[in-house]
Amino acid sequence: MRTERRHTVALLFIDLDGFKQVNDSLGHPIGDRFLKHVSQAFAACVRPQDTLGRMGGDEFLLLMPDLPDPRLADIAAQRLLDALQTPYIHEGQELRLTASIGISLFPRDGVDSVTLLKNADSAMHRAKEFKRSGFLHYRPEHSRHAHTRLALEVQLRRAIERQQLMVYYQPQYDLVTDQVASVEALVRWHHPQRGLIPPGEFVPIAEESDLIIEIGSWVLREACRQAMAWHKAGYPLLRISVNVSARQVLRPEFVSEVAAILHSSGLPANWLELEITEGVMLDDPIYAARQIDQLRQLGIRIALDDFGTGYSSLAYLRQLRLDALKIDQAFVRAIDEQSSMVTNSCALLRAIINLAHSLGLAVIAEGVETPEQRSALISMGCDILQGYLFSHPLPADEVWPTILRLQNGRAPAD
Ligand code: C2E
Ligand code: MG
Ligand code: MG
Repeated sequence: MRTERRHTVALLFIDLDGFKQVNDSLGHPIGDRFLKHVSQAFAACVRPQDTLGRMGGDEFLLLMPDLPDPRLADIAAQRLLDALQTPYIHEGQELRLTASIGISLFPRDGVDSVTLLKNADSAMHRAKEFKRSGFLHYRPEHSRHAHTRLALEVQLRRAIERQQLMVYYQPQYDLVTDQVASVEALVRWHHPQRGLIPPGEFVPIAEESDLIIEIGSWVLREACRQAMAWHKAGYPLLRISVNVSARQVLRPEFVSEVAAILHSSGLPANWLELEITEGVMLDDPIYAARQIDQLRQLGIRIALDDFGTGYSSLAYLRQLRLDALKIDQAFVRAIDEQSSMVTNSCALLRAIINLAHSLGLAVIAEGVETPEQRSALISMGCDILQGYLFSHPLPADEVWPTILRLQNGRAPAD
């Protein structure tokens, strides 16, 4: 790569967020047309001396020579992100994606094209993890991070067959019936060297590829099997809540796959709840709402997880037919903190609970840790509480002994 001596060259690695879902849900021809729309939008905002190219898939590169000030690369990155705001119209629907951009600079981050490309790619991956729709400059620790991440992905691919994944279950306390009536299934990875890895560390990695589909369907199968195993052992049926990622829900086969899992486990559909997040609505709300309607037609309950953290869009509440709203722990945590923010949080919490009730939704509060939070949530009319105050997530064999202890105040049954 040649350049004038005092001038910087910037390489921007651009990757669309969630493009695969467009292809999966709308088909490749629409995906291709969307990519053309993106290319044109990008081309309209680069300088004549820049080179813009598509690397393949949903990856683009922008080479910016002769930059008198490296900060011009940031301005260009922001301009590319802004260009994506113009939606592509497909059958009257607005289709819009965000992108993650990694930036490497010559000579700061490398003096040959291979190094610059590799470093811009690492920075892009960090940008994607950090927050979608943003740009980051390369830093040397990105390479190290990319390396461990790749190693983790390779190991995760084998985790199912090596039986390293486990499902833990966290009781949910129903204030209406005054008993534990449901449990949330939460996946864990027993890594041979690193011990128990929480989902926050590997679910995002799995979500970047088809791995999440395999893991998600394993968790669903295992949770339904376990619910029936407890029942067959003589315990009352518990409703089981399973987290599903947007990638899973948006696959056309998902509904029939869930029906098949219910059928083979023998679990009646109304004892299964699927927890979705607002992420399912980002790319194609109409298709997502249709998938969710079909799941509900099977008799499955649908809960919207982590409400209050993301978009918390009232439009989504209107478009989606739901059964329950899960209020994020951030709101619950604010209850017994001492600040004026808290008054706001509590007012908002009360309003969300009332809103959910008037839409006919049950309200579940997550992350309940203190008796004060419990009392406040009861007084606000919350229906179900979940959190360390009642129980941590537990391995399957500890679930019923804990539930019995919670309900009867007696020692766990042997
Ligand atoms: P989530 O669905 O919102 O699950 C609640 C998280 O809060 C769980 O973390 C749970 O252990 C934690 N938690 C429960 N009570 C308390 C409390 O009182 N205090 C605090 N501080 N935390 C509490 P976990 O198990 O680490 O799971 C994190 C996230 O990973 C989940 O958030 C969910 O989004 C995702 N996840 C877990 N299992 C699966 C899965 O099978 N599939 C998918 N797609 N995502 C999963
Ligand atoms: Mg959840
Ligand atoms: Mg949650």
